[in-house]
Amino acid sequence: MTDCLFCRIAAGEIPATIVRRSGRLLAFRDINPQAPTHVLVIPTEHLRSLDAAKDGALLGEMLLFARDTARELGIAERGYRVVANTNADGGQTVDHLHLHVLGGRAMRWPPG
Ligand code: 5GP
Ligand code: ZN
Repeated sequence: MTDCLFCRIAAGEIPATIVRRSGRLLAFRDINPQAPTHVLVIPTEHLRSLDAAKDGALLGEMLLFARDTARELGIAERGYRVVANTNADGGQTVDHLHLHVLGGRAMRWPPG
């Protein structure tokens, strides 16, 4: 989708700090990090949200990719959080499915 921010990042039309790539997934640094390490994992093909996802294999790949990215970035042993804000009440502001991978500090619960 040409008017989708994350599609444009995936296409290289908008610069981002890319951390990791696989066949159909991409991880890049969040522009407004909420933790010392804050990375977003997206499918390169447009998909609006977790609620719109039908491809279970893709969702599984995204989780494994998030886990492996956390390991590569050195936050796995101490711990990290994976978040999928979904639709309006979930706090989703970019309508292209993404997982947040947050680490490098202790996370609080409940989230705001
Ligand atoms: P959401 O609020 O939809 O769960 O997460 C969207 C995330 O995208 C936010 O954490 C926000 O900081 C990040 N973001 C918004 N615009 C950009 C951008 O242009 N580049 C990057 N790297 N991240 C962005
Ligand atoms: Zn998109």
